[in-house]
Amino acid sequence: MIIGVLVELSNKNVDRIFDYSVPLNLQKLIKLGIRVEVYFGKQKVEGFVLEIKNNTSVSSLKEIIRIVDSEVVLNDELLYLGRTIQKNTLSTLISCYQVMLPKALKAKQGVLINKKFDTYYRLNSKANLFDIRGKQQDIIDICRKKGSVLRKELIEISLSSLNTLIKKNILIAEKKEHYRLAYNNLIAEKKELTTDQKRVVSSVEMKEGIYLLYGVTGSGKTEVYMELIEQVLKEGKTSIVLVPEISLTPQMIDRFQRRFGDNIAAIHSALSEGEKYDEWRRIVRQEAKIVIGARSAIFAPLENIGIIIIDEEHSDSYKQDDSNPRYNAKDVAFLRAKYHNCPVVMGSATPLLEDFARAKKGVYSLLTLLNRVNGKDLPLVKIVDMNDKIKTAKGHFSHLLIEAMAERLEKNEQIILLLNRRGYSSFVTCKSCGYTFKCPNCDISLTYHKSSNTLRCHYCGYATKVYDVCPKCNDKSLNDLGIGTEKIEEELRRLFSQSRILRMDFDTTSKKGAHEKMITAFRQHEYDILLGTQIVAKGLDFENVTLVGVINADTSLNIPDFRSSENTFSLLSQVAGRSGRSNKNGEVIIQTFNPDHYAIKYTKMHDYLGFYNKEMAIRYELKYPPYYFICYIKISGKDKENVNNEALKIKRALDRNINDAIILGPSSCTIFKLNNIYRYGIIIKYKNDKFIREILNKIIEHYKGNIKIKIDIDFNPSHF
Ligand code: ADP
Ligand code: ZN
Repeated sequence: MIIGVLVELSNKNVDRIFDYSVPLNLQKLIKLGIRVEVYFGKQKVEGFVLEIKNNTSVSSLKEIIRIVDSEVVLNDELLYLGRTIQKNTLSTLISCYQVMLPKALKAKQGVLINKKFDTYYRLNSKANLFDIRGKQQDIIDICRKKGSVLRKELIEISLSSLNTLIKKNILIAEKKEHYRLAYNNLIAEKKELTTDQKRVVSSVEMKEGIYLLYGVTGSGKTEVYMELIEQVLKEGKTSIVLVPEISLTPQMIDRFQRRFGDNIAAIHSALSEGEKYDEWRRIVRQEAKIVIGARSAIFAPLENIGIIIIDEEHSDSYKQDDSNPRYNAKDVAFLRAKYHNCPVVMGSATPLLEDFARAKKGVYSLLTLLNRVNGKDLPLVKIVDMNDKIKTAKGHFSHLLIEAMAERLEKNEQIILLLNRRGYSSFVTCKSCGYTFKCPNCDISLTYHKSSNTLRCHYCGYATKVYDVCPKCNDKSLNDLGIGTEKIEEELRRLFSQSRILRMDFDTTSKKGAHEKMITAFRQHEYDILLGTQIVAKGLDFENVTLVGVINADTSLNIPDFRSSENTFSLLSQVAGRSGRSNKNGEVIIQTFNPDHYAIKYTKMHDYLGFYNKEMAIRYELKYPPYYFICYIKISGKDKENVNNEALKIKRALDRNINDAIILGPSSCTIFKLNNIYRYGIIIKYKNDKFIREILNKIIEHYKGNIKIKIDIDFNPSHF
């Protein structure tokens, strides 16, 4: 027997299949997708069995050392997904398989995670139950009732009786795996759906298809998801629910657990590697039928999938863009849905522009929920123009916001404040009028480069010197913007010394369980004001919150990214949606230097469609998605001149070979120099992608042996 093995080495030169022979005694255990240990040169490495065959062109074959797993870790479907993702993203095949598995399974991890076992006992059906008395009878009764009982529970009745029963062969021991996480089977909590919700549920056909559920905040989307999952569960099928990590809050998990009990496996970053591994094993053993998790949960080794839900589908967290493979979990969801012949339901109050465009074209089916479940209007949004208010404001707080806060606190209601810190960036802004420098070609904020004291565009490479005075208002207070949550917290404590303030950001929530405690405390009204970064915008459902304040709407507007308007509109609409979710009316106050910007105006009117039309016109004009695809090529290396030269060569090669695309760059990346590695980017805007992959594959091949140059390719990047 000969097998083809993909070794777990990240070197792109060895990212292909190598043949090995299998000793006779191991042949029966070899399966596709199982891992084996082999010699690679003199090194011992682990790898995946991807081929089983009878002959090979290799003359001197080595034998494998051993088989690593007792069970297959990559089933047929995952093997197929890996190959497809490799083709689509042009990453290494090994990275595509590694991204699917929990870290604890990966080779060279160093930490060995042990499975733990508990001992259970059950009655031997052939046993003679004659001559049994007292405590022994109690033990037998409980075993008869429950079928299989934990040893600990029986010891509590009587250790000696238990030992006697074991000796008499009346009880049979069983080992069952002990999982680190305990799930309670809580009472099902089910709401009678509204007519609108029922209409949506019944529109989803349980076969292959992609649905976009556009539902305003508080319209009951989550309830719809749960109903669909319940139907699938009744059919004996499984479900995946993807949510952005940031909204994978204990509150959200809790809601699903209360409905589905221990059918749920939740995979999130607060779990230890051991806990993640346990969850993964519960899924493999088909003990968990519903998987809820962030991006990588799309690879959950479920069989017989009946539905895939993608909540907050506009979130950029579904695209992996910091490492290879640069895949989008949505694309994987579509592949899996096709494989299992099941629907994908993507929901959002602010759908991604591309997805809404596809729904309008009929590529996806559009479902809508236009009203809140509570029957109330969406909260009233007031815009505070900081251009004329900044001089009278107290720190970062306008009078209007301060007064509104005081009023709510007076009524004993709660407040959420958003400090918009999305993708903190070094763009230059005028402190007095809010003017931001933009690229004349790309309509993208320019980024300040300290070393050359210039402002640069990261799309096309346009550069200009830094001005001393603002070209709009002639003020001299040009500055790069920056406020931290701590500073705002300080101001808040001075303004509202009587109120209880809770700060929630990545610093205060990094400790395990901290996030959960904070949310519970806020819900129980141990705090009056919740101040936080983007983390407060998503998924939270507090009935006593009647005011949402946005300190600085503009930060995300100025990010050098063609999606900055869309992201700002989404963020503001989402955070606004936290207000007035129960029977009290909600209000939202947004402070901004750009009150006339359409992203702000449409937020005020809760007008997604208006925003969509306006933004689509701009995308059309500037040749951005969805009218054009974008591919970003990053070229990096230690020798600046060398990297620059190769980047230019690649650009020329692209120019020569592609004629119906726009090729921008090479220009230095946002973080040009990182760990002494220089990085250049080339952007391709194109319409036909077949050609592009061909030429890019050639470029990758060309640089395979070149250790000085690293090429990363990102199709449809979520940001730059
Ligand atoms: P969304 O996900 O669209 O923001 P949710 O599903 O969280 O909306 O629903 C908003 C609120 O309304 C939640 O508190 C939820 O429990 C409640 N809710 C949803 N559907 C119903 C229903 N049919 N009957 C009563 N309450 C509901
Ligand atoms: Zn530009």
